[in-house]
Amino acid sequence: MTASAQPVVNAMTIDVEDYFQVSAFAPYIRRDKWDVMECRVERNIDQILGLLDKHGTRATFFTLGWIAERYPQMVKRIAQGGHEVASHGHGHERASDLSEAAFTQDVSRAKALLEDLTGTPVLGYRAPSFSIGAANMWALDVLARTGHRYSSSIYPIQHDHYGMPDAPRFAYTTPPGLLEVPPTTLRMFNRNLPSSGGGYFRLFPYALSKWMLRQVNQKENQSAVFYFHPWEIDAGQPRVQGIDMKSGFRHYVNIPQMPERLDRLLGDFNWGRMDEIFLQTQAREAARG
Ligand SMILES: [Zn+2]
Repeated sequence: MTASAQPVVNAMTIDVEDYFQVSAFAPYIRRDKWDVMECRVERNIDQILGLLDKHGTRATFFTLGWIAERYPQMVKRIAQGGHEVASHGHGHERASDLSEAAFTQDVSRAKALLEDLTGTPVLGYRAPSFSIGAANMWALDVLARTGHRYSSSIYPIQHDHYGMPDAPRFAYTTPPGLLEVPPTTLRMFNRNLPSSGGGYFRLFPYALSKWMLRQVNQKENQSAVFYFHPWEIDAGQPRVQGIDMKSGFRHYVNIPQMPERLDRLLGDFNWGRMDEIFLQTQAREAARG
């Protein structure tokens, strides 16, 4: 079998945080209130682990240090399930809101904590709200310097809160030693359309999301990177009151449909861990010269 005849394996990724930590809610829920909010993350993660097991899928969990401190056994269960535990930073501040020193401290703290819990090096990092872009590319140097091997933090789209529309669409090395693996987009109508999960996956009909991923796999022969959050499968989460309409719509749209859609998605494509898909490919290409 030639390499191109093998089925493309896509990366399934979960950003491990709770519903009250999403950046769009930051103006409404003060950080010092996080500890008194009803936490839903553990039950949602256990449901996700069950769903992944049903399909024999191994995934990457970009885990928030704040969550890992409070749910260490949950992090251990993720690792014991054969999944990759990667970092989502510690406090879920946007990288673009932090100084270089504060960002260095945040990512170092999360990495050390997760490594202590799992006994395994943490290789990957995803910035909260994909908050690395043209204005703070220094953050990639920090990630390389603190021992990360890859990042999945630069979304090559136009969006009101994040994005770098002219960034490469597929994995690239920058700076030396660090691979940036962007969430997947489809090039259409002279722009990059988000095709990798989150609110877009809930908003679009499933058939459209499936078609977009197929295009990337079959036409471009590239692995896709898909992401979602534990709260996106949780129809019973407490409603945050007093939020603006756009944030409310984006957060809650089609949550009840999500478990069934994910089930179909896991069955319709081949999925794996970020490190196994991208770092091993990189090593093979380097060996070939
Ligand atoms: Zn996040």
